[in-house]
Amino acid sequence: DTVYLNGDYVAKEQAKISVLDRGFLFADGVYEVIPVYRSKPFRADQHLARLFDSLAQINLLSPYTKTQWLQIIEQVIQCNLSEHGEHQSIYLQVTRGIDSKRQHAITVPLAATVLVMASKLDSAQGTLNGIKATLLEDIRWHHCNIKSIALLANTLLVNQAQAKGFDEAILHRQQELTEGASSNVFLVKQGKIFTPPKSQYILGGITRDLIIELCSDAGLEVYQQSIHIEELSAADEIWICSSTREISPIVAIDDKIIGSGDVGPVTKRIAASLQAFKSQLLAD
Ligand code: PLP
Repeated sequence: DTVYLNGDYVAKEQAKISVLDRGFLFADGVYEVIPVYRSKPFRADQHLARLFDSLAQINLLSPYTKTQWLQIIEQVIQCNLSEHGEHQSIYLQVTRGIDSKRQHAITVPLAATVLVMASKLDSAQGTLNGIKATLLEDIRWHHCNIKSIALLANTLLVNQAQAKGFDEAILHRQQELTEGASSNVFLVKQGKIFTPPKSQYILGGITRDLIIELCSDAGLEVYQQSIHIEELSAADEIWICSSTREISPIVAIDDKIIGSGDVGPVTKRIAASLQAFKSQLLAD
């Protein structure tokens, strides 16, 4: 594995950061995950726009322009082709950098620490395996729209779900559905599509945006509105989505079977639209 760290392309084992990095000490940074199909970053513009937005929200200047980011990402993909193949997942993170001592307040401007690395993307070939989720209280902070590297709540929640034998945690705040621990959630009810609106309580997923477009193109009505958790068990179909998992059908939530307990027709249709969209883009 070759990673990019602060201007250098180095072997992953050689990439080191200081113990005084504010990312390490305070989780003071943001990140992105960009899927790569046939060596091409998918929806890179949207991912970089969200990165710039996350950076602005934590008062960090982007160390690079969009063009520079794209060049670095391209280089990391190329460096990892023999290791990971042409379908990859790019992880990039920017932290506020290395201070002279551990202190909460930022007293002088620091040089950001930038890491870009790749892994093999093996999930995303359009396979639709039904998964089970558990409903948990959303214990995260109030700025979930920032793609912050502070993911302790998310990791505790997914571990809690997996310890109980579920694949994903679906979260609610005071009975209102927010999102998955690392995904957005969609419901299908009587042929209509529902998903919670963008707010400070969810991360505006790039996959979520694309799926909304695909549903509209397919002539389906999409409602971005608050969803009470009671509506989950009444849904005909539910799926979660993210860049690395694409569309994952939820066939049960806790002990409640969703719809027929199998992958539903609308889920199949939208998942097929997503695959068609990807193929079309890659053919260009
Ligand atoms: N919500 C959360 C909390 C996430 O961590 C993620 C991605 O990992 C998503 C939603 C989905 O976002 P995207 O579709 O941009 O991958």
